Amino acid sequence: MTDTHCPYCSLQCGMKVTGRRSPEVSAWPEFPVNEGALCRKGWTATGLVGSRERLTTPLLRDRATGEFRPVGWDEALGVVADRLRALRAAHGPDTVGVFGGGGLTNEKAYQLGKFARVALGTSQIDYNGRWCMSSAASAGTKAFGLDRGLPFPLADLEQTDVVVLVGSNLAETMPPAARHLDRLRERGGRVVVVDPRVTATAERADLVVQPVPGTDLALALGVLHLLVAGGHVDEEYVATRTTGFDDVRRAVAAWWPERVERVTGVPVEELRALVALLTGADKVVVLTARGAEQHSQGTDTVLAWIDVALALGQCGTTYGGYGCLTGQGNGQGGREHGQKADQLPGYRMIDDPAAREHVAGVWGVPADQLPGRGRSAYELLDVLGTPTGPQALLVFGSNIVVSAPNATHVTRRLESLDLLVVADLVLSETAAIADVVLPVTQWAEETGTMTNLEGRVILRQQALTPPTGVRSDLEVLHGLAVRLEAPVPFATDPEEVFAELGRASAGGRADYAGITYDRIRAEHGVFWPCPDADHPGTPRMFLDGFATPDGRARFHAVEHRGAAEQPCADYPLHLTTGRVLAQYQSGAQTRRVRALTDTGPFVELHPLLARRLGTADGEPVTVTTRRGSMTAPARVVATIRPDTVFVPFHWVGANRLTNDALDPSSRMPEFKVCAASVMAAGRA
Ligand code: SF4
Repeated sequence: MTDTHCPYCSLQCGMKVTGRRSPEVSAWPEFPVNEGALCRKGWTATGLVGSRERLTTPLLRDRATGEFRPVGWDEALGVVADRLRALRAAHGPDTVGVFGGGGLTNEKAYQLGKFARVALGTSQIDYNGRWCMSSAASAGTKAFGLDRGLPFPLADLEQTDVVVLVGSNLAETMPPAARHLDRLRERGGRVVVVDPRVTATAERADLVVQPVPGTDLALALGVLHLLVAGGHVDEEYVATRTTGFDDVRRAVAAWWPERVERVTGVPVEELRALVALLTGADKVVVLTARGAEQHSQGTDTVLAWIDVALALGQCGTTYGGYGCLTGQGNGQGGREHGQKADQLPGYRMIDDPAAREHVAGVWGVPADQLPGRGRSAYELLDVLGTPTGPQALLVFGSNIVVSAPNATHVTRRLESLDLLVVADLVLSETAAIADVVLPVTQWAEETGTMTNLEGRVILRQQALTPPTGVRSDLEVLHGLAVRLEAPVPFATDPEEVFAELGRASAGGRADYAGITYDRIRAEHGVFWPCPDADHPGTPRMFLDGFATPDGRARFHAVEHRGAAEQPCADYPLHLTTGRVLAQYQSGAQTRRVRALTDTGPFVELHPLLARRLGTADGEPVTVTTRRGSMTAPARVVATIRPDTVFVPFHWVGANRLTNDALDPSSRMPEFKVCAASVMAAGRA
């Protein structure tokens, strides 16, 4: 029996894995994050182990026939290295792109960043976390000087008075987390949900506010207006712990409730009820998730809600504040260790000379040989195969064909490459169009750390022997580095890589230097920053000041711009996307777990809209946007706004519809809203 963690979401629930031939998951009640509770995905997590769809040999596309043929590792890695060398000789190092994932362990994310900069010498690396919570990361850095999704343990939610969830459906996406809301309410606390849909989370809320998709920012401005007008701002806190509020005070003056109602569709009395809950509470926590963040104004939306928490005097206090609920399993750690286009390990900026010197010293290479800032995820994909973009892409831990916005366009770009290499467990939709597929180990077959949504570094321990023929991503990177004659070694032992990561992060904003595998085992995880072996870790941040030069948080006076696409005569509805309980992200793993296949794609719409379309529950409907169409059964519910349709994004199709408009700061695409039309399938 091995203590380990779930392969999926950012809660990183603790679990035990037993048995080797027919492995099973059992509860690990002592692990504090989930106390033995798991969701459907967690209980069935071994379903992919031993699946007949598992890849166990590298695949090489035969250029003559266009078909895959199984090959040995030597041949596969040799072909990749030869073709990378030839492309680099012809076009320079930036002709090779690297695309990582927010589900990779910290060790893999770190090694991938080092591999790109040192073995390939390319600046063209980014990852799918750019699509997941980068707007919250951008806003947190601007406001607090440092981004850690939750700057406090999740269990603190039980001790506050009011929790406001903006664009989070945690009861469905991470069900064990919902018990904190239940316990809060048992204590007399209140929960507010802001979401265009009445979700499983909204069902346990005291107040549900359903704004028009893309107007969460305007709602926050309305809240701030009423806080100012009603004299509810914590002036002493604002004066001593923040800067910039005067600009906010001026900016929100024009956001009187009737204007907010016109823009957001939220009735004035609901806005006032929300403000009354906030001002009647001693402790308030504001949480955002993808619903607030995946917008072309996502960073500003999060900043506006941070402004609300700051105006109430909550951030950097015990049981109050702001936090982001990350999504992917290593959504937090994945953005700290250097697989982002603009970052080096330890959350260091790649264009900071001191940061370059430090990391280059750990890597054993001259700092002036490290490449500079590359393109963000979508911007990288958008230029693949073009004269100015990379001609080769190496993909680790990402199923781009399903998860990218404007996915038809992105798939064409992938298909235009000279070389597409995908490392994956199964033949995902992205692997299926690759030139070379490299079969890699999965969660229970390997050891490595993840950093959960609380900033708690946890250890996934190997419970099972991998099938013959697969290798770990660390072994793949090592094998390629050797063949590319990289100037420094690339370790394959995860504990050795973690120790190097600790040295690279030392002194940085996400400091792991004092964390070891033994400490994680003994302490049920260690919260960063943890700069040395004697440091206890940091469960609660900012209590003594924020990570800004003067220790004060920054207010930001932001303006509502609205979604990049507004409904029009041809596309009269809002389309929004999201997740369902039984599936995880692009579904590459969960769609292959038999116990989770009872849910398929659907289009959720209101009965009034269904009547207008002449359709009914279960009948096929077609959703169309400026980028494409998809058809799926209608799910007719009264819990969604009549002007909005919802499609889960775990299956091919949803992201063919979504808009690739980017947030100017985080470069996050606007997955959460675009203009759409819907009709009963088959009607012209
Ligand atoms: Fe826990 Fe998330 Fe895994 Fe469900 S998917 S068991 S909530 S870590």
